[in-house]
Amino acid sequence: MKRHPIFFHTMRLPRFRRLLLPLILLLVFTTTSYSIVGRHATVPPLPAFVMIDPGHGGYDPGVMAGGIEEKNITLAIAHQLNASLQARGIQTAMTRESDIDYANDGSKGSSSKRSDLDKRIEMTQEQQATMFISLHINNSPLATRGGAEVFYSKQNEGTKELAALVQAELHQVPEMSKRDSKPGTYYLLRKQDIPSLIIECGYLNISEEKARLNTADYQKQLAEAIATGVERWLQTQQ
Ligand SMILES: [Zn+2]
Repeated sequence: MKRHPIFFHTMRLPRFRRLLLPLILLLVFTTTSYSIVGRHATVPPLPAFVMIDPGHGGYDPGVMAGGIEEKNITLAIAHQLNASLQARGIQTAMTRESDIDYANDGSKGSSSKRSDLDKRIEMTQEQQATMFISLHINNSPLATRGGAEVFYSKQNEGTKELAALVQAELHQVPEMSKRDSKPGTYYLLRKQDIPSLIIECGYLNISEEKARLNTADYQKQLAEAIATGVERWLQTQQ
């Protein structure tokens, strides 16, 4: 059998040198494999744990119009958003899953509202969420057109871009009046140290929008748009 010249040459080397070539090859192979695995390992799954906050609840109905209460619509959209984010592999939790509030017993007015909001912030921190999304509905006699509007916590880096992406996806929802995302000074936004959004999903004083907001179909479209915006932003963070 004709031997390959390099192989033949190697076989004539002393024992240590004969072992050297396989050792080098093994080292090169191991290093290459490690760097390939290492590169993959540096791309984590979507690094997010989103705390979804359906605004209001329990004693606090939020805004109301024609028998429709904000707390019920925010809860319905929140359930849809929860499902949509989970379907995209994003971990989630909700501050409430039913019609409850977290106001301290016996407190009234602004102090009960404050204790309710503090509890939602505390839950977000306790669960070590990496993003906070609070859902609301607007009602303003001064508003002459509807539309969803995204407010962001300007103290958290990257949140402006997150808000812009979510707002852009909301613009894709049929019949959506196109509003701009903007920084917000709401208590819930100021107190969070993670990217946080308050999304006003529409206006109850605009009758066509009020009718849409009360349908499961429109609630799902809003949730899908928000989830898509969140997913797009997370992809920019990898
Ligand atoms: Zn609200």
